[in-house]
Amino acid sequence: MYRSHNCGELRESHINQKVTLSGWVHKTRDKGFVAWVDLRDRYGITQLVFDEDRTSSKLLEQARSLGREFVVQVNGEVIERASKNPNIPTGNIEVLVEEVIVLNESKTPPFTIEDETDGGEDIRMKYRYLDIRRNPVKNSLIFRSKVAMEVRKYLSDEGFIEVETPYLIKSTPEGARDFVVPSRMNEGQFYALPQSPQTFKQLLMVGGLDKYFQIVKCFRDEDLRADRQPEFTQIDCEMAFVEQEDILNAFEGLTKHLLKEIKGVDIESFPRMTFDEAMKRFGNDKPDIRFGMEFGELNEVAQHKDFNVFNSAELVVGIAVPGGNSYTRKEIDKLTDWVKRPQVGALGMVYCRCNDDGSYKSSVDKFYDQEDLAKWAKVTGAKPGDLICVLSGDKNKVRAQLSALRMELAERLGLRNPEEFAPLWVIDFPLLELDEETGHYHAMHHPFTSPKPGQLELLDSDPGAVRANAYDLVLNGNEIGGGSIRIHDKEIQSTMFKHLGFTPDEAKAQFGFLMDAFQYGAPPHGGIAFGLDRLVAILGGQETIRDFIAFPKNNSGRDVMIDAPAPIDSEQLKELSLKLDL
Ligand code: ASP
Repeated sequence: MYRSHNCGELRESHINQKVTLSGWVHKTRDKGFVAWVDLRDRYGITQLVFDEDRTSSKLLEQARSLGREFVVQVNGEVIERASKNPNIPTGNIEVLVEEVIVLNESKTPPFTIEDETDGGEDIRMKYRYLDIRRNPVKNSLIFRSKVAMEVRKYLSDEGFIEVETPYLIKSTPEGARDFVVPSRMNEGQFYALPQSPQTFKQLLMVGGLDKYFQIVKCFRDEDLRADRQPEFTQIDCEMAFVEQEDILNAFEGLTKHLLKEIKGVDIESFPRMTFDEAMKRFGNDKPDIRFGMEFGELNEVAQHKDFNVFNSAELVVGIAVPGGNSYTRKEIDKLTDWVKRPQVGALGMVYCRCNDDGSYKSSVDKFYDQEDLAKWAKVTGAKPGDLICVLSGDKNKVRAQLSALRMELAERLGLRNPEEFAPLWVIDFPLLELDEETGHYHAMHHPFTSPKPGQLELLDSDPGAVRANAYDLVLNGNEIGGGSIRIHDKEIQSTMFKHLGFTPDEAKAQFGFLMDAFQYGAPPHGGIAFGLDRLVAILGGQETIRDFIAFPKNNSGRDVMIDAPAPIDSEQLKELSLKLDL
C-alpha cells in the first residue's frame, strides 16, 4: 500500500496515528539536528519531520539526500506541530518519519513548482507535465472537469443523450480550412477532420434521437490569432421539433445552471439584442454589456459643417469615456496612436473634452461651436468630466475600430470585472455575409442555417438583407455559443447551396448524404454549440484558454512537448502514396 492518506488530509484528529504517505518532495529545510520536508501531491502539502533525537541519524542523512521532485513514500506518526502554519489545512500537524522509501528520483526541474514560478511560457509548455504539478494549472484542469460534469449532469437530466460522432470524415464547412488525413486504403483520398459535428448531429435528428449533445473535439486549420487553438472542445447540441425560442430557453437554462453551480451567480433572464442593434450600440456582435460607453451616432449633428473628414464619412460615431477629461494631451495623443495602429486601423481620432463647468474643448473647435459640441455630448451621453472620442469613415470599419477602443478603455478603467457576469443573446444575424475581396456572399453561420420565414424570396433581390434564424450566446464580450434553426427541406437546402456558389454537382458531391437524408422525413430541428475552452476560461476569471487545456498548442500550432507536427519517414509516405513537394 503506497498510502493510507493523501498529503492534504491529515489534521489534529489524526495525532498519534501511524500513517503512510506518498508524494513529491516539494521543499527541504535542514537545521542540522532536524530537517523538514514538504511532501506534495494533488491534494496538498504535508510537512515531514526528520529528527536525530526522536528517530535516527541515518534517517536524517536520508532526508538530506532527497532532491526536489523526488517521489517518496514515508511511514511515520502524526504529531502536533510546534510552530503551526495557519496558511495550509494540514498546518497544525506534521509526520515524524520512521521510514523513507525513494520510489523514484528526479532531475532538478527546469523551473520551480510554485504558484508563482520562474519558468517562462515556452519552458513550461515543453515540460507541461511539470507545469501541471503547479496549483494554478492543476486547479484549472480540476475546474474544467467540474464544468464538464455539470454540463453532462444538466443536459442528461433534461433528456439529452450523448452520442459520439466520427473524426475521420469529409469537409464540414464552418468557415476555416480543414485538417486532412490521408487514407492508406484509399489511395490519393483524404479524410477531413471535423470543424464541428454539424452534419452528423443533423443526421441524428433525422435518425429520431430528438435531443443530442456531445463534448467533442473540433479541428480548424486557421492562422492562430492570440487565443485560438487548432483543436478545441465544443459542447455540441441539437434538438428536433424546435423553434428558435425553444433552443434559446433550453440553453439559457444550461448557462444559468452553470453560473449558479460554478459561480453561485443567479441571473433571472438573459437580455436579447438583434445583430443590428448590437452593431449600432456597441459596434460589435458580441458586446460586453458589463459597462456602458455605448456608441452615439453623430452624423446628424456633426456633418454639414465645414469639417470635410466628417462630411465625407459614411458614419461618424463617438463614445463618452467616463472621467476621460482628466487625460493629459499626451495621453490623448497616445490614445490616437493606439487607434491608428494597423491592428485597429483608424485614420485618426477627434476628441472633445467635457469640462466640469459645462463647457467643451474639442480638437476641431475651428468647425464646431459650444452648441454643436453640447449636441455631441447629448448623443454620446457624456457628462462633465468625460472625454468624447469620435471616429469616422466606412460604417463597418469604423464600428470595429471604435469597438476596439471601447474595450481597450474599459480594460484600462477596470470596467471589465471578471467576477461579474453579463450574458445576452444576440439574434437575427444576417444569413449571408459579403466577402469584400471576392465580391461573393458566404454563409455567416454555416450553409445549413435557415433564413427567417418569408425571407427566402429576398435571396435573389437583396441577399445581404436576409436575416437568419441564427443566434449567439455572448458572455462578457465573448461569443461562448452559437447556433441556428436548420434547413430541413431538400429544395431549400439546394437553393441555399446555389446562392453560396455551389454547382448542383458540387453540392451533391459534398453534401449529397444530407440532401438524401432530407428526403426521408427530416424533422424540423436546430441546435447550438458552446466553446467549452472559452466558457471555462471566462467562468474561471481568466483571459486565456490555454491555461484550461492540459496540453495546448502554441501560436504556430505546435505541441512543443511532443514536438509535433513532425516529418514522417519515406516508407510511411510511400504507403500513403504521397510525395512531398517542398
Ligand atoms: N456547428 C456550429 C459551430 O460550430 C454550431 C451550430 O450551429 O450548432 O459553430
